[in-house]
Amino acid sequence: MVEVQADPVIYGICNCNNCKKRTGSAFGLSAYFRESDFRVVAGDFSSYELSNDFGTQQRKFCPNCGTTLFWYAEPFKGMVGVAGGCFIITPLPEPQFIAQNETRCSWVSFSETIKDGFGKEDLPSA
Ligand SMILES: [Zn+2]
Repeated sequence: MVEVQADPVIYGICNCNNCKKRTGSAFGLSAYFRESDFRVVAGDFSSYELSNDFGTQQRKFCPNCGTTLFWYAEPFKGMVGVAGGCFIITPLPEPQFIAQNETRCSWVSFSETIKDGFGKEDLPSA
């Protein structure tokens, strides 16, 4: 179990194939928090590392249930990504953006109030 002390800095839907594989679903919902606002409350997590077009990621998953709960990704320095669907006690609000539309499943649609697109310019300055 993990706990966060603030709202996510970056929070969006990602339609890339990497997120599909991570979640086993049609898209990923990822919330990035400053590392200082995040802590592991309980549980031992296993990890694995992978590299792709977006850089290197270290993913932490529960060895009991297999859920990838959080990760550290190269483009998001100083932040930790948390699987948005895992916020059960206090669900997150509507995401800020939709990324990687070019690999979106043709039958998936999202609210028109969510910003379409995410780029390097959307990353917060360090
Ligand atoms: Zn993705």
